[in-house]
Amino acid sequence: MTSKEKIEKAWELVNSKHIETNDEIQLIRYAVRIARDLVDRDTPKKTEIGTSKYFKFPICPNCKVELNGVYKHATKYCRKCGQRLEWEE
Ligand SMILES: [Zn+2]
Repeated sequence: MTSKEKIEKAWELVNSKHIETNDEIQLIRYAVRIARDLVDRDTPKKTEIGTSKYFKFPICPNCKVELNGVYKHATKYCRKCGQRLEWEE
């Protein structure tokens, strides 16, 4: 099971129909949501191409910040949001 599958399973469990809705379960759902966001952030996403008129800098697929081309292959994570990046060759 991948990390993504595991967290989806956890999400399914905390949202199952027969579970009570109270403050404690809300807190658990919140915790699972945080874990899910972290798994998403650590799953590599392909960089996108910016739409700036003069320079086509690659941009973060998550927060859309421009990524410095010079450090292209050395930059594995977005410096702004922490998204793990996958570069096109
Ligand atoms: Zn970003």
